[in-house]
Amino acid sequence: MIKSSSEFLLDRTGAANSFDYIVCGTGSSGSTLAAKLSERGNARILVLEAGGDDGSDLIGDPNRWPMTLGTELDWQFVAEPSAHLEGRAIPYSMGKVLGGGSSINVSTWSRGHKADWDYFAAAAEETAWSYDSVRELYGSVEAWGGEPDQLRGRRGTMHVQPAGNLHPFSLAVLEAAEAAGLPRFPNANGRMMEAAQGCSVLDETVLGGCRQSVYRAYLHPRQSQANMTIVTNIMVSRILFEGRRAIGVECVVNGRVKEFHAEADVILCLGAINTPRVLMQSGIGDADHLRPLGIRMISHLPAVGDGLHDHVCFGCVWGAGVEKLPVAPRSQIACFWKTDEGLDSPNAYAYAKGGPTLTPENAARFSPPESAWTLVVGVRLEGRGKLRLTGTDVSVPLHIETGFLGEPGDLARVVTAAERARDIGNQPALAAFRSTEIAPGSLPPSELEAFLRRGLGTFWHQSGTARMGGDPANSVVDGRLRVHGVDGLRVADASVLPRVTSGNTMAPCVVVGELAAKFILVDSLEGVGRAER
Ligand SMILES: Cc1cc2nc3c(=O)[nH]c(=O)nc-3n(C[C@H](O)[C@H](O)[C@H](O)COP(=O)(O)OP(=O)(O)OC[C@H]3O[C@@H](n4cnc5c(N)ncnc54)[C@H](O)[C@@H]3O)c2cc1C
Repeated sequence: MIKSSSEFLLDRTGAANSFDYIVCGTGSSGSTLAAKLSERGNARILVLEAGGDDGSDLIGDPNRWPMTLGTELDWQFVAEPSAHLEGRAIPYSMGKVLGGGSSINVSTWSRGHKADWDYFAAAAEETAWSYDSVRELYGSVEAWGGEPDQLRGRRGTMHVQPAGNLHPFSLAVLEAAEAAGLPRFPNANGRMMEAAQGCSVLDETVLGGCRQSVYRAYLHPRQSQANMTIVTNIMVSRILFEGRRAIGVECVVNGRVKEFHAEADVILCLGAINTPRVLMQSGIGDADHLRPLGIRMISHLPAVGDGLHDHVCFGCVWGAGVEKLPVAPRSQIACFWKTDEGLDSPNAYAYAKGGPTLTPENAARFSPPESAWTLVVGVRLEGRGKLRLTGTDVSVPLHIETGFLGEPGDLARVVTAAERARDIGNQPALAAFRSTEIAPGSLPPSELEAFLRRGLGTFWHQSGTARMGGDPANSVVDGRLRVHGVDGLRVADASVLPRVTSGNTMAPCVVVGELAAKFILVDSLEGVGRAER
């Protein structure tokens, strides 16, 4: 059942306060995990979500996603001003609603590259994360609505289909991408995610024009189950410990504090910004940072909040030609390539949409006409950011450094990515859709650098802030997602990914939720309980 937080505040008996599992957050990973745990009929699951319900039309219609940004559906984080970005403090949105990011995102489904998963398996020292294992898992996650492909599953929980009613502009971009050297694949998540580069019609989680969020696909069908309790509009503030054992969570509702107790595990699925925040508020993190704030240490794990990884995003814009452009603010195609041949997987990608997409700073400089189109480029860089508490109160803002362009070579990578995008956009195949090249165009190196420093934003793929690994000095959770040094506590969301995947992160977060449920259920059956670890 879904309960409002006020119903719990009224309960003074304590009877409704104890559960087997407490899943914190209903985003891409949390919705998956809670639903899979509830399949074991006798386990009592409590799911806690800071946001409200997902009934808004801004959510149901995936074409309205840009209108969710800056509203109450968005956490509205803002990163620190960065010298690498000409002093700009970029908005750093994440979903705050049932479904988390999957309720406000662009609905693109991107599995992650073979090399990403093999990298995760090696870093986590756990073969369940390997590509072979995850490819099989995806077979049972996806309900693929496209042409048969032996790599795609038909009977899974997530409806995934190739973008339909392809606009002539999208077909022209694919032709241009092929002319620029990217091989074309029959779909975006089969063999293309094993290749060095490619282009394809993209996959999306949209059915009959409606968003199929991970919450709607996984958790919503189970909300009336007797063993499932979902509470909305409630903020998890701290994990409760008995010694080094997590025994529940403390929450804040309308300024009042409420506790819930877990007989088995507490699992944090609050996303890559708020999961490390709650860990740090609970005394799990770098002692040098937490002790001066007066926080009692539970486990010294310096990697908490460290290693924030994401894709940078920028637009390359052309003026419209004689042919009509699409109006929907979502691409129908995807292009992937490497900026350095030596990389193990494509680190750059581009989507194509009608309308100009530039930061306000670049829009002021380039004055794009309304009638324009954009190749929206994403790049995985080497730079990593970090998160720090600015106080112990849950309402004070976090200190967020993105790390964008923070490593030598990062600027060269975005320059190379911009050049490849320009090559695609200037191909003859797009001539009928193109009048002039607007931004960046052919600029001298110093001006191109300024365009990029003024133009980079986030692709909203925040990851890596509680990464998996075997060494507690350099990671936060082990390969089975157990927080190092404590009992009864796991993390399952984009925080655990040792690096951001190639492409978007919703599908990888579903994998995180699926594997977390497997680990928890297997460990509980095998009696790997709190005391044994
Ligand atoms: C604007 C935007 C566009 C995107 N586009 C795409 C796309 O097209 N395709 C794609 O694959 N990915 C996309 N992404 C990224 C993708 O949605 C996320 O990577 C993914 O949802 C992350 O999953 P998660 O489970 O780690 O966290 P989230 O989905 O962010 O879920 C975390 C949940 O925890 C809740 N929460 C946080 N703190 C607390 C607290 N203290 N107490 C209680 N609850 C709390 C949040 O409200 C949220 O519901 C986009 C993201 C955004 C923001």
